[in-house]
Amino acid sequence: MRAEQYRGRMFIDGQWTDSRSGGTFEVTDPATGEVIGEVPDGGADDARDAIAAADAAFRAWSSTTATARADLLYAAWRRMTERSDELAELMTREQGKPLKASKAEVKYAADFLRFYAEEATRVTGEWLPSSRPDQRFLVLRQPVGVVAMVTPWNYPISMLTRKMAPALAAGCTLVLKPAEATPLCARAVFEIFEEVDTPAGVVNLVTALDPKPIGDVFTTDDRVRKLTFTGSTAVGRHLAGVAAGNLKRVSVELGGHAPFIVFPDADPVRAAKGAAALKFLNAGQACISPNRLYVSAEHEDAFVSTLVERVSRVKAGNGFDDGVGVGPLVNEAAVAKVADQVSDAVGKGASALVGGDRLREAPFDRGHFYAPTLLSGVADGMKIYREETFGPVAPVIRYDDVDHVLDLANDTNFGLAAYVYTTSLSTAIRAFEGLRFGIVGVNDVNPTSASAPFGGMKDSGIGREGSHDGIAEYLETKTGGFAL
Ligand code: ADP
Repeated sequence: MRAEQYRGRMFIDGQWTDSRSGGTFEVTDPATGEVIGEVPDGGADDARDAIAAADAAFRAWSSTTATARADLLYAAWRRMTERSDELAELMTREQGKPLKASKAEVKYAADFLRFYAEEATRVTGEWLPSSRPDQRFLVLRQPVGVVAMVTPWNYPISMLTRKMAPALAAGCTLVLKPAEATPLCARAVFEIFEEVDTPAGVVNLVTALDPKPIGDVFTTDDRVRKLTFTGSTAVGRHLAGVAAGNLKRVSVELGGHAPFIVFPDADPVRAAKGAAALKFLNAGQACISPNRLYVSAEHEDAFVSTLVERVSRVKAGNGFDDGVGVGPLVNEAAVAKVADQVSDAVGKGASALVGGDRLREAPFDRGHFYAPTLLSGVADGMKIYREETFGPVAPVIRYDDVDHVLDLANDTNFGLAAYVYTTSLSTAIRAFEGLRFGIVGVNDVNPTSASAPFGGMKDSGIGREGSHDGIAEYLETKTGGFAL
């Protein structure tokens, strides 16, 4: 059976367009390897056309009322909600995650549209006193200008709205380049903005197989005033460096290596259930996925045996099939990286209690599948202890000294998410204060929401998305001194 074909287009200055070169690239289903569509292969000239459109639209868009911008975002929220089933199906086809997870993501994506519709009308200024009796100060918050956005494939709809909604609410115009693996989800998001009559040039989409020429334009073009990026630390470091060198504002959401600590006073069975639910979300392809499960020595047996039972139950497969908890990984390189980390760990003394290999037999042979895996006996010195896995592998590390477990958890260059299981309020507060991570889940495996700040410390990034903080990233502060 031939998969239905999707035809992608770029969206520049209110028009659906091909690339200037006329070139296209194919999009494949990671579960089956089937080609499901094709999209324009844009280049530097297309990026410049999109920036020119965003620049031309900025004056009018930034002069609209906050209420008008809120109305547009509410309309987009309604439209995304109406189209949620269809968007979820497209996401499962293009990105591979189980359909239920795709539906949850579309809801999360829509939440940003609604939250920033509300937030648009709460951008305020200040009236400040002066030491001079004949002077007053006013503080005005204004949109930064044209924003260039680069987004990843793992959350191919919500990572767009998490950037686009606050930017639009603030009064910015934008150019977005989605990941080459998931341009069709991006097209669908832009269709929604077209359907709600977003003025031409306010939102622009450029797709490309090779992201580099687009990144070069985004980070050097004078008309771009801010770069926002979500993706790997290596690419984010490079883009942020060039953009900052050109004195653009920069926000980057990068990799993570989340610790998950089971304290001696925790219920190890509850913690193991939480860890299993969290670790296999999106096949572990999330920057907040736990990468080090620290369990206190007295709980190791109960924690590990519950995890063995839970992980054995996680079914890998096509995200459209009932009961599937883990879909395919994004590509072959991702599978190879996971396989390398697991064989390195096993070679250095870890045990694969569940899984431990890629899935090769039909129906997995055409896609990029790795078995849901549980490793025990993981220790420092193994690659998985330091490197982000981005795959369905839960690595368990036993610890003996509770006084030093926060030091172990903090001993990483990353600083995005951390998780803690405890029944003690003071342990919870000490851990919350002591962990050098931007997000801490306390007995909670989903510490994310449109209304809560999301972002990392250290190599996990700069800036925050979501919440009131998220719109501040798109605003300049202007001070007025008024002599009376
Ligand atoms: P991953 O390794 O998980 O795919 P990347 O950081 O490579 O993560 O990708 C995240 C996003 O960054 C994607 O949209 C990708 O196309 C883009 N990207 C990668 N390299 C560059 C670059 N040099 N310039 C601009 N964008 C880039």
